[in-house]
Amino acid sequence: MIKKALGAASVLLAVSVSATAQEQVLNLYSARHYSTDEALYANFTKATGIKINRVDADDAGILARLKAEGAASPADVILLVDAARLHKGEVDGLFQAVKSKALDDAIPARYRAKAGPEGTPWFGFSTRARVIVYDKVKVKREDVDTYEELADARNKGKICIRSGSHPYNLSLFGALVEHLGEQKAEAWLKGVVANLARDPKGGDTDQIKGVGSGECQIAVSNSYYVARLLRSSNPEDKALMERVGVVFPNQSSWGTHVNIAGGAVAKNARNQANAVKFLEYLASPEAQNYFANGNNEWPTAKGVKVSNTALQAMSGGGDFKSETIPLAAVGANQVKVQQMLDRVGFK
Ligand code: FE
Repeated sequence: MIKKALGAASVLLAVSVSATAQEQVLNLYSARHYSTDEALYANFTKATGIKINRVDADDAGILARLKAEGAASPADVILLVDAARLHKGEVDGLFQAVKSKALDDAIPARYRAKAGPEGTPWFGFSTRARVIVYDKVKVKREDVDTYEELADARNKGKICIRSGSHPYNLSLFGALVEHLGEQKAEAWLKGVVANLARDPKGGDTDQIKGVGSGECQIAVSNSYYVARLLRSSNPEDKALMERVGVVFPNQSSWGTHVNIAGGAVAKNARNQANAVKFLEYLASPEAQNYFANGNNEWPTAKGVKVSNTALQAMSGGGDFKSETIPLAAVGANQVKVQQMLDRVGFK
């Protein structure tokens, strides 16, 4: 009898040991695909013994997949590249809040979701600025050194920008709603539409190249696309970047709009402890350098600096003034902004 009971106990023990062994994995859904991220993941596995299984897709694809998989989703951690999308994942109930002193201490409040009693739904791990690029021959720098001036009549027919509904623009416009108020922000959007050189099409790099081809004189782009062109050895890119100037807008007012790439723990994560460990690792100084530098971005964690020559050249040798509003508020404005875009005919 005793022997039998012991036997059963040892079977149970064996089962729970193998379950623990199985827990040493992390299923990651990532919208980031940079070669430096491979080293980032390898270092995490080396330090913790936790193996990473990765699924790559873009932000929209990951959110759609999580919804379709529902409770059966194997995802533990989600990495996305825009505050509006992170906010959407939160609102759609795809994440679970995290309580972590390490994350709360490392990541400034404006770069993470608003914390509730359960914890914080998502964290930003790198920042990118939404900058203005202009033709140095045809446009005066002082005519494009604020976002407000993009709507000024003197810039009529000069501006190229990607679709207004793209998350990068939804976040920029959501920030403008915070800075200017709804009425002024909508009037501003109307002014930008009136100043477009062409209907919105393509990505940020296409807008910069539009300045090179002469189709546009002013373009709006995320900073890392500019940095990528600045680091390019392609002669065409070099010629393009000699022709254009880069402005970090609103340096003498509320600062340049910045967005984030960030992460969250999936709602139905089975490896929850590993997931939190991974997010805490991303906030560490070592990981911050890989995470930010791999895509020419700035780290979010307090006290971490990155040395990146393209970023330094672009921002005039160092720091620039960025806006201080919480990105959670920016993300929350996206539905309102989409309605404004429809009203002013911003495609
Ligand atoms: Fe991008």
